[in-house]
Order: sequence, then C-alpha cells, then structure tokens
Amino acid sequence: MNWQNKQVLVAGLGGSGVSMIAFLQGQGAAVSAYDAKLSAERETQLKQRFPGLPCYTGRLNDALQGVEILALSPGISERTPEIAAFKQAGGRVLGDIEILAGLLAQQSGKIIAITGSNGKTTVTSLAGYLCEQCGLDTVVAGNIGTPVLEAYMQRGGRPADVWVLELSSFQLENTDHLNADAAAVLNISEDHLDRYDDLLDYAHAKDKIFRGSGVQVLNADDVMCRAMRRSGREVKWFSLAQPADYWVEGGSGRLKAGNNDLLAAADIPLQGLHNAANVLAALALCEAVGLPRTELLKHVQTFKGLPHRVEKVGEKNGVVFIDDSKGTNVGATEAAIAGLQSPLVLIAGGQGKGQDFTPLRAALHNKARAVLLIGADAPKIEADLQGCGVPLEHCHTLQAAVRRAYEIAQSGDIVLLSPACASFDMFQGYAHRAQVFVEAFEAL
Ligand code: ADP
Repeated sequence: MNWQNKQVLVAGLGGSGVSMIAFLQGQGAAVSAYDAKLSAERETQLKQRFPGLPCYTGRLNDALQGVEILALSPGISERTPEIAAFKQAGGRVLGDIEILAGLLAQQSGKIIAITGSNGKTTVTSLAGYLCEQCGLDTVVAGNIGTPVLEAYMQRGGRPADVWVLELSSFQLENTDHLNADAAAVLNISEDHLDRYDDLLDYAHAKDKIFRGSGVQVLNADDVMCRAMRRSGREVKWFSLAQPADYWVEGGSGRLKAGNNDLLAAADIPLQGLHNAANVLAALALCEAVGLPRTELLKHVQTFKGLPHRVEKVGEKNGVVFIDDSKGTNVGATEAAIAGLQSPLVLIAGGQGKGQDFTPLRAALHNKARAVLLIGADAPKIEADLQGCGVPLEHCHTLQAAVRRAYEIAQSGDIVLLSPACASFDMFQGYAHRAQVFVEAFEAL
C-alpha cells in the first residue's frame, strides 16, 4: 500500500498505536493521533518522539475530520456509531496486523498465526522457539508483547524466514489479508463478552485468522473450532480425547501423530494436560511450514514454560502454592484445576468481563477444599457457584486470601491462584497480581 500523503488517524496510543505512528510517518503518511484520554505526561512524551504530531482527545468524531484511513489499536472496538459512519462515508479502518499483512505479502517468508481463548502465548512462544532451534530466522510478535510493526521496523524491513504471530480477537477484527501459511484456533471459551454480542460473535472474530489459503490447525475437542473447518483447505486436527492428526493416547500417555508415536506426555517440560494440547498445536503449525518432525521433537523437550501460567511458587509445610495469575478467564481456570491432582484451595476473582462462572462448578467438584473470592466480581462468582458443594468465602485482599488459604489447606494440598478474571480492579496487571501472591506466600 502506498501511504504517501494519506491522511491517517491512529486511534489508541498504547504500544501498537505508537508503532503505527512511527511506521506510517516513515512511509510519508500525514498522521494524526487520538486517544479518548491522554495524560499530560503521555502527551509530552508523544510530542517529543513525534514533533508536530496533531494529538486529539475527547470525541473521536472531531479527530476524524478529513481522515481517509483510521488505524485502530486493538483496545478500541470498531463497533461504534462514529466508526460505522466513517466507514459508510468511504473511510477505511484497519489495524497493525493488516498493515503488516500488506508488507509481508511482498516478502517470501512464512507466516504462522495463533489465536484462541487460552494458550496463545504458550503456543506462540513454543512455535517461535521451535522455529529458531530449527535454524530459521524467526520473528515472534503481536499480542505476545512486541507490536508487529515495531518488530518490522527493528529489522529495517529485512525479510524473515518465518513470522510467528500471536493474535487476539481484537486484532483479528480488522485483519482481512494476513493469509497465514499455517494458522491455529486453539479453543473458544467465554472471554471478552463485554465487547462481543455473544460467544458466536467472539468466535467469528477469531475465525478471521483463516482468511487465505494456508493450513488450518484446529482443536477437534472444541465444538466451535470444529465448525471453523473450511472446505478445500488442508486441516490438521489435534485432540486430547480421540485419534487425530496430532493426539494424546489416554491409556499410554503418549503423544501421537496419526499412528506414529511422537513422545511421552511426561517428557513435555510443561505442567498440565492442556499443555500437551499446546505442544500438539505447535508441532502441527511447525510441520505445516515444512520443519522436520525429528528436529521438532528434540527441541520440544528443552522448551522452558512461561511465568504465571500454572507456575510453582514454593511449598510450606507440605502445601504447594501455584501461580496461575494469567488465568484470566473461566476456560483457563478450568484447565488449571483439571491439570492438577491434589485437593486444592482456589483463589479466584477480579473483573469478570461478563463471564458465566458456572462451568467452574464441575471443575471444582471433588477437587477443591474451598474457594476464596476476591475483587470486584466476587459476588457474581459466588452467585454462579452457590450450592456447588465447595465452601465459598470472601477475602478483602489477595494477601488475606493467601493467609486464609494456608489456614484451610492441609499438607499435600495445593493453593492455586487462578482468578478466571482480569486484574485491573485491584492490580496493575496479571504480573503485579502474581507478585503480590508470591510476596504474600513469602510472608507466611
Ligand atoms: P493466552 O495468551 O491465550 O492468554 P497463555 O499461554 O498466556 O494464553 O495462558 C493463559 C492461561 O491459560 C494460563 O492460565 C494457562 O495456564 C491457561 N492455558 C494455557 N493453555 C491452555 C489451553 N490449551 N487450554 C486451556 N487453558 C490454557
């Protein structure tokens, strides 16, 4: 796309917004910037980095005057009357992934793309690690941390052998031309229902990852994923429950590809059965872009997991404390509970994002000694779990919950922080929540 002299408004001035400004200015576009709220300090920083940049706050409509293209950050939904009117009047709306797609379409490297309600970061970093270990010049970017255009600029536009992209549903909403060589939807469970009409609407955003002609990697155990199969496309299925292209044989605990043996689940250096599914998805993606199986299986075993995802913090008098602060939705918390053997005390709660917490009832049954609830949506969770047979208690702070959990737990138990909620009502983010958890454990 030729950006020269195009009137572009970048809306949302977080990491990806700033990378869009830098990239588009570099391409000769006439860029202006908008955020609903901008602190004076942030505005000064932006003006220092981009002298002369017109910066708007307040109403988006005012900022849209004379704009041809709206470059939207993932934090902003395009379903507003203002943006609908802008499109109606012939304006174009895109995000940083769509801009990258245009750039990568001119290059020969492969694209691996990953989305899902849970496991995106794990699969993205594992697939990226495997590509690197197999000797490919690899870029890992997107929702995982580095905005894609920042990664592109850091390389000075130099082509990579492979781009491994973690994509959120928000990023996919305005991505139409990525045409990934291999793309995966790992699972669909309730999340972000404060932004979508319902689960189908949310799944529909994720399904956009399959636009193009590449290999589809899909979870055969997930009804929404099964519905995403597209005719005429190569599909690789993975499953924890049944024979598939990539699957775990329950009886033997072996990972298999069709009839071929791959490795023992016990040889995966990540906790929990859900991580076996993540490994299968990463293997499917990497094989789909031509990497050799024997190499991949060797390197899978040296992958180190990520922090705050079912991570052991320590042990006190036989009680093991596990940090799953990144468990920010019901699906993640269900998986964490299912993957752990001992009786446990669950600490959950925070911002519930409109989720239905009732699926936790079955997960907790016969497994949990108690559930300690914290945060803004504790009453909603209590209402959804009421009568599930597990005692529920409210705690004012995470520190108090950790102390109470330790009182309740018996030797051999697990205290699991897996909130099923976002953290922003009480913390700066999930990493901060984990830090408070670890400090409270250390203070016991
Ligand atoms: P995401 O990037 O999609 O948020 P992460 O890899 O960061 O995913 O993991 C987020 C949470 O989801 C963690 O609590 C983790 O234990 C859990 N999780 C990881 N993989 C899966 C999976 N395949 N199914 C369900 N939960 C998972």
